[in-house]
Amino acid sequence: MSDTLVKAITKGVRVYAAVTTDLVNEAIKRHDCYPVAAAALGRTMTGALLMAANLKNKEAITINIRGNGPLANITADAVPEGYVRGYVANPHVELPLNAQGKLDVGGGVGQGLVTVTRFTGLREPMRGSSEIVSGEIAEDLTNYLYVSEQTPSSIGLGVLVDTDYTAKAAGGFMIQPMPDADEEIITKLEENLKNLRPVTTMIAEGKGPKEIIEEIMTGFQMEFLTTTELGFKCQCSKERLEDVLLNLNRDDMLSLIEDGQAEVCCQFCGAKYNFTKAELEHLLKLADSVK
Ligand SMILES: [Zn+2]
Repeated sequence: MSDTLVKAITKGVRVYAAVTTDLVNEAIKRHDCYPVAAAALGRTMTGALLMAANLKNKEAITINIRGNGPLANITADAVPEGYVRGYVANPHVELPLNAQGKLDVGGGVGQGLVTVTRFTGLREPMRGSSEIVSGEIAEDLTNYLYVSEQTPSSIGLGVLVDTDYTAKAAGGFMIQPMPDADEEIITKLEENLKNLRPVTTMIAEGKGPKEIIEEIMTGFQMEFLTTTELGFKCQCSKERLEDVLLNLNRDDMLSLIEDGQAEVCCQFCGAKYNFTKAELEHLLKLADSVK
């Protein structure tokens, strides 16, 4: 089954769930992620897709998690149309399992800041930050939404990494009670969440987003809204990568020209773009002309 995100509502509560196994595997392959990095990046990308689902078409969201742990920096961009891209600064982090016998994503992330940027078509994007709580990503995003955007939510994210370093199951959910949700519903929901199985267990059993929502919302009558196909997709192009070269200092640029060519790699997807000596010389002239 391909990756999808399903939206549903019930009296005053919206619930989104996503299965992201294929796109997380695409990211693992592109960035050669070891398990801790695969879990951290997969959770962040899934969180970005769930948060992007609240945006309007053509808007976009970027989540950046910058901690003092060995992973250093995780970034994911997502759009409500269902595309996501992302990277982790150090994909080859190896850490022992944590006290619960799980991948130590929190240890890989460390302490630092969660920054979320929303591109809404206004001239200035909207940016907010909050402290990293545990580094386990779902908790950090839940805290961000509460502290920075005053939106109470419950987010669950998971990536089950197999012994061959591929994702066996990946996905997540986001629950947001709206201001008119009544107390009784919230209490019942909290009860459901206390007994909830890990979302990766459900996905590994073959459950899709709709079945995940039904399990989370046991006892509620859900109205299912939309289903969106998800995928890993980067918006990079050779033109966009020219900016990287334009921002190099003059000596570095001259040494590339001396080498006779340059290969620039997109950090989000790993795509490689080649620049010839003539193209490099042209870019140097451009850079000189704006200085
Ligand atoms: Zn790219």
